[in-house]
Amino acid sequence: MSKTILVLPGDGIGPEIVNEAVKVLATLRDEHGLDVDLDEALVGGAAIDATGGPLPDVTLELAKEADAVMLGAVGGPKWESLDITIRPEKGLLGLRAGLNLFANLRPAILYPQLAGASTLKPEVVSGLDIMIVRELTGGIYFGQPRGVNQLETGERQGINTLVYTESEIDRISRVAFDIAMKRGKRVCSVDKANVLECTELWREVATRVGGDYPEVELSHMYVDNAAMQLVRFPKQFDVMVTTNMFGDILSDCAAMLTGSIGMLPSASLDENGKGMYEPIHGSAPDIAGQGLANPLATILSVAMMLRYSLNEPAMAERIESAVNKVLDDGLRTPDIMSEGMNEVGCEQMGDAVVAAL
Ligand code: NAD
Repeated sequence: MSKTILVLPGDGIGPEIVNEAVKVLATLRDEHGLDVDLDEALVGGAAIDATGGPLPDVTLELAKEADAVMLGAVGGPKWESLDITIRPEKGLLGLRAGLNLFANLRPAILYPQLAGASTLKPEVVSGLDIMIVRELTGGIYFGQPRGVNQLETGERQGINTLVYTESEIDRISRVAFDIAMKRGKRVCSVDKANVLECTELWREVATRVGGDYPEVELSHMYVDNAAMQLVRFPKQFDVMVTTNMFGDILSDCAAMLTGSIGMLPSASLDENGKGMYEPIHGSAPDIAGQGLANPLATILSVAMMLRYSLNEPAMAERIESAVNKVLDDGLRTPDIMSEGMNEVGCEQMGDAVVAAL
């Protein structure tokens, strides 16, 4: 039975980069037998302009019915003066909550051809390939009680609560172990078990889940050390799994090891492996509409979709090889341009990937 992919171009460079990713999907469908149907809907600022809200009911319904969702990016200066409750970014949060996407997968891959783009020495980062698995719907960003209280002494007190149930830790740990089985079979669970009881439980449950994956080597690391190790010797890591807040911070750090925001895809998954796939970057209003955006992060998000939601690992590899080929051929969008390379625009880059498929 054919799988349905809901395409949400969004705002800014979103429609440009998604257009190239759709070309890749259509080529796999028309020439390589990928059995998919594509549907499209509005989200973010585009949805606000058309319907008054960032996440129309019909978009959420279509997203729930689809097998996977592909998102460009949302937001931009046009909508920044709106009340925070109806800004474009609320559309994204509504999708994550509405689809119960509790596992955020953020790979940090540095293509050897782009090693010069990192601020770290090429030998430290060349060939880097880390997968950070971040818990996305629990932890301190959602825990109760929260807020700012007035104390009897007259001063105010801010409160947030770090809270995880065993089942929440169990399910995110399983996502990490399942992914490790498809990669280098190593999981590093990151916590602060020496100080926080909640992450002492995290370590205990991660260890218990590890018992079900005898082939995977499990290690534990305190988050402060993990931050240091990411910058010192990042290639020691295969899969890292951690809480919402630690993952938020570490995944940005890992992304920046690669130096090129236009190259990094991401996935957010539910319990059944259904997911929303998007580049890690935003809508880049400064270059929108100029044909300058790098579409590779979005195209690589399609590869993640094929691997994690559509169970088509060979098709995913086909895309990743095609991206490698265009980089080997010296094609570069302006954000990754270096001396001696051949500068191309968004559409040309997409066409080159399609040709290399
Ligand atoms: P951004 O990621 O959009 O842009 C940061 C810088 O990176 C800009 O100079 C931009 O030109 C460049 N850049 C980003 N993607 C690129 C690409 N594919 N190719 C070439 N260059 C690229 O972050 P920002 O400027 O902080 O935010 C702009 C808007 O995007 C804001 O409204 C923000 O809220 C929104 N945003 C959305 C998402 C999302 O949809 N998931 C994520 C982050 C930011």
